[in-house]
Amino acid sequence: MKVSLSELSALAGEGGLLEGESVRARAAGIWNPDPIAADAIVRPRDTQSVSRILASCHEQGQAVVTHGGLTGLVGGALTRPGDLVLSTERMNAIEDLDETGRTMTVQAGVRLQAVQEAALEAGLEFTLDLGARGSCTIGGNLATNAGGNRVIRYGMAREQVLGVEAVLADGTVLSSMNHMLKNNAALDLKQLFIGSEGTLGVITRAVLRLRERPASCCTALLAVESLDDVIQLLRHADRGLGGTLSAFEVMWRDYFRLVTAPELGVTPPLGRDHGHYVLLEALGGNEEADPEHFETVMGAALESGLAVDAVIANSGREREALWALRDAVERTHDAGPPITFDVSLRIADMQDYLSQVRRRIDAAFPDNQTWVFGHLGDGNLHIVVSVGDDSDETRHKVEEAIYGPLQAIGGSVSAEHGIGLEKKPWLHLSRSPEEIETLRRLKATLDPKGILNPGKVI
Ligand code: ZN
Repeated sequence: MKVSLSELSALAGEGGLLEGESVRARAAGIWNPDPIAADAIVRPRDTQSVSRILASCHEQGQAVVTHGGLTGLVGGALTRPGDLVLSTERMNAIEDLDETGRTMTVQAGVRLQAVQEAALEAGLEFTLDLGARGSCTIGGNLATNAGGNRVIRYGMAREQVLGVEAVLADGTVLSSMNHMLKNNAALDLKQLFIGSEGTLGVITRAVLRLRERPASCCTALLAVESLDDVIQLLRHADRGLGGTLSAFEVMWRDYFRLVTAPELGVTPPLGRDHGHYVLLEALGGNEEADPEHFETVMGAALESGLAVDAVIANSGREREALWALRDAVERTHDAGPPITFDVSLRIADMQDYLSQVRRRIDAAFPDNQTWVFGHLGDGNLHIVVSVGDDSDETRHKVEEAIYGPLQAIGGSVSAEHGIGLEKKPWLHLSRSPEEIETLRRLKATLDPKGILNPGKVI
């Protein structure tokens, strides 16, 4: 390391520096049991401390990788020997909750679930939600522009934050802690850091946008035969539910059959032979009237033949059981190491795209198992491929089959997981040479010595 441990220890405050065995004892990620490779972990308590640490690292050319909850899926937080980890784990204060302005001011290391719970206690809601809510941090959610289960209604993380404070590589504190919905006083600089995956600055605080807590939550699972009908059902539901549609998740048959296999002991809520299963949810403001209206809209879908069968959740437990099927992604690990994707494309292109992908994977790996599910309402498909091994060569072949057809249709190699290290070789399929050059110029301007999360994204 280029910065001395005693200097870092002084800058981080008491108990703020971990080295040696206490670094090695930590896993590189929630789903990655390898030890952290970096030499040390520095754990500042506030923005000023982050600023002093980065100023020193900048001066001495020290590589810094910021760590939040380590729930990323693309290697964006991996470290190398000689790196310094800057962990936000001791920056976990909820500083303020403004019920009138409907905002919450937090430090970057607060866990998403803690934010959600604090908002609920005040009769409000923070609407970003994803499976890793108990582990992931707000700083990480913003740095990766997280998506999740309610994007169709509320947008991604970018749309749920009003202000951000970030520290640039040289220690400059860029505080854009805006509390207003509207602020067109020149460029919105916070957007530089949202989705930058730790390469342009370290997010230290944020002002989050809260909404009124919904009074009703209606959930249904519908069986739909063709993808065309699924797409029509999306429009039918969105129109009929008048802006309250908050999730439109689709499981293709192979995925549904996997997560309702008899040996798992779950009772399938619908027959297992349909083409597609749509998990649909609406959040509304009228506890009495909403369920009745929801049932009418679902009933109309059945009558018109868009859906061939349906079940509506009648309790919180039933609702959770339906979501548990959608969230049982770990079942795809049973057949061997899974290779997972989160591609984005226009809904109208999905049928052709999936046929192409199936052809390509079947040709390269006749014994493959491939599952498709995801946030169809957002144009975001998750594809999991299992071919027995996940060596670099195998992985590359599978990636070629999945990513190859995206370029021609203007799709994206990452809908919500980001680029990190894993998708860096494929970024050029979704971004033009001019776009990538502009990203490089931004990086050179904000981090001229390249100390922040080096080697990631571009
Ligand atoms: Zn997802």
